Amino acid sequence: MRTRTTDAPTRLTTPTELRRWALRCHAAGMSVGLVPTMGALHEGHRRLIRRAITDCDRTAVSIFVNPAQFGPREDFDHYPRPLDDDLAIVSAEGADAVFVPSVEAMYPSGFATKVSLDSALTRSWEGASRPGHFDGVALVVSKLFAAARPDRAYFGRKDAQQCAVVRRIAADLELGVEVIECPTVREPDGLALSSRNRFLKASARACALAIPRGLARAAQLFEGGERDAGRLREQVVAELRASGIEPDYVALVGHDFEEVALAAPGTEILVAAKIGNTRLIDQLRLGIDVAPVVVGAAGAACTGS
Ligand code: AMP
Repeated sequence: MRTRTTDAPTRLTTPTELRRWALRCHAAGMSVGLVPTMGALHEGHRRLIRRAITDCDRTAVSIFVNPAQFGPREDFDHYPRPLDDDLAIVSAEGADAVFVPSVEAMYPSGFATKVSLDSALTRSWEGASRPGHFDGVALVVSKLFAAARPDRAYFGRKDAQQCAVVRRIAADLELGVEVIECPTVREPDGLALSSRNRFLKASARACALAIPRGLARAAQLFEGGERDAGRLREQVVAELRASGIEPDYVALVGHDFEEVALAAPGTEILVAAKIGNTRLIDQLRLGIDVAPVVVGAAGAACTGS
């Protein structure tokens, strides 16, 4: 455990540089924390970095928009890449190293390895909506873990299924990394922070609040004793439809990401929906997560993205 540094983070651009940096830390008896991101950093990322700095002797933040986890019709080309802002944030938070590889550094010519999970974890929800997505996540996370050999790696619960996938990889490959999950951070109006929120125009943003509103409504009903997963799900769907949003999916799942019929404390509500061209996901664990406090009236219709 250590406090934040005032030195600029060491900039690393190849997996070899990351590995050498981590080896030096380990050789000096220091623990290493890793915060994998795709950049366009916001408060959600900042909390992961802060937690890593609190827990670990040395913290590395990776910034890499990983092409392997985007489908051919997804937004890889348009994903935001404000690198200078991101480097300033990593520095201000006091991380020790920032890993910013090029695509060629991560996937040089001749690269042929695939990492794939044979699990119900990756077949449903995000896995079904985004074929190949979790293979891409598994590949990049395996590479990052292999290079940084972190003692702990920090992920956001907003990507709940991704957290489960990363845990599975860490356990199966016995990488000796502790996967730390951090709560979803929200804007003051309730919308989960996402690098993609910057694509939302004001009207679409107002409409997107139907997502946390639906989660809050389901949480409230659960607190009131409702346990029927179908009825809880219906509340979320109704909130979305009131704003003209047809969700990709709304699901109440257990630890294995299989749908449940009866909700219990820890049952997770997963939501994915496209608002115009912008795809957002959100989650809430019933009886565990603080329900979003949503500002603004229900039923704001979506007009444009
Ligand atoms: P990304 O840059 O979107 O790939 O996210 C990098 C990490 O930050 C992932 O572990 C995400 O789950 C996490 N993250 C993204 N948004 C949030 C949020 N609103 N709250 C907490 N963690 C987040």
